[in-house]
Amino acid sequence: MSEEDHEETGSPATFKELGILDELCSACERLGWKTPTHIQKEAIPLALKEKDVIGLAETGSGKTGAFGLPLLQALISHPQRLFALVLTPTRELAFQIKEQFDALGKAVGVNCCVIVGGMDMTQQAMDLGKRPHIVVATPGRLVDHLEKTKGFNLKALKYLVMDEADRILNMDFEEEVDKILKVLPKERRTMLFSATMTSKVNKLQRAHLQDPVRVEVSSKYQTVKKLKQYMLFIPCKHKHIYLTYILNEIGNQSVIIFCATHLSTLKTALMLRNLGFTAIPLYGKMTQNKRLGALNKFKARERSILLATDVASRGLDIPSVDYVINFDVPLHSKDYIHRVGRTARAGKSGIAITIVSQYEVEVYQRIEQLLDMKLQVYPTVQDEALVLQERVAEAERFAKLEMARLDEKTGKKGRKRHRDVDDSEESLGVRKRLQKKNKLKNN
Ligand code: AMP
Repeated sequence: MSEEDHEETGSPATFKELGILDELCSACERLGWKTPTHIQKEAIPLALKEKDVIGLAETGSGKTGAFGLPLLQALISHPQRLFALVLTPTRELAFQIKEQFDALGKAVGVNCCVIVGGMDMTQQAMDLGKRPHIVVATPGRLVDHLEKTKGFNLKALKYLVMDEADRILNMDFEEEVDKILKVLPKERRTMLFSATMTSKVNKLQRAHLQDPVRVEVSSKYQTVKKLKQYMLFIPCKHKHIYLTYILNEIGNQSVIIFCATHLSTLKTALMLRNLGFTAIPLYGKMTQNKRLGALNKFKARERSILLATDVASRGLDIPSVDYVINFDVPLHSKDYIHRVGRTARAGKSGIAITIVSQYEVEVYQRIEQLLDMKLQVYPTVQDEALVLQERVAEAERFAKLEMARLDEKTGKKGRKRHRDVDDSEESLGVRKRLQKKNKLKNN
């Protein structure tokens, strides 16, 4: 949540003044939520009046609380099993939402279950059999359960939240969403949250919300004031060298590095580890457990550098990231906003550095147009960077060897082959040898 969320709001409303019950106000306090964010101030009173709400807000604005608090309040007033469904586009987001429900609803004994792909269907069927109060789900897996899990249905549901509706629809979940909506009772409250009001979202809300009230918190393409944004124009062949140079310069801070593909994410992660950095990759092709494991290690600061594809650029609530580095310029300018939005959150300051090669100038210029400003050049000393050339080349060579060795080991070819090597410690022998040679600050 950005500081602007507080600045824009003006009035010093409290959760209590918004109509939130004492036990939930105490839960907010325990979470350190002193005053409601802008979207919470706007959406909560409407939802408490049992209005359908459309919230135009992004992750980071406090939107989970904006739908979570009125939902929990309605549940406390009318306790019922399988009371609410929250649909969300990604597995990570689903777990983050559950975390917030657990934290807010602990004192009142709320039971919340996550239903997402990549996890065991049978275990999930058993969890659903226990009839939780709230189901947080990605659409595909929920449809599987609605079709296959005996005894499970949502016929008594009272509350539906569609979170990040634009992403759900852009990810081709339209068919699944339709199937789900068909089996939900018409008599229910619905809240729909979306970063942007696309035509698909518009169609969805017209068909499935009753007389909704729309609330909006910030213009789409703003980056927060406390974010310092830099660019660095260098030849493509020197990208790893300058990345290493920057990481050495900034010391032991928490950093997210965004790469264009899962292979470059993995290769760069292995290379950095060979140089002694605590780096961990995260991309869509990893198994769910590995993804969660990677994220948790990063959150717990066991790893200070997270390398990610755009799968991780939206929706993840990773507290206090000091730096975002765009190792590759994002092809879609909007992704730039989402990527850099991982830093400078909740009033803290942050730095974003975008590395631009000769092949990325055009795409980069589109980002500057969108931001309507020219980014400052990140200060570097070329000689100091190029001193690293040999060590980086060696670390790259070892990374390549490790990838080839792991390919051989799994005996798999094609796109899935690196799926399970994300945080392998098997190559530590190679790394240790290299790390000894490198006296980089950041290990
Ligand atoms: P969200 O937009 O729901 O992903 O929330 C972003 C972050 O803001 C999460 O870490 C929440 O715990 C936090 N947050 C939500 N509401 C408040 C609040 N009223 N005051 C302070 N932090 C909040």
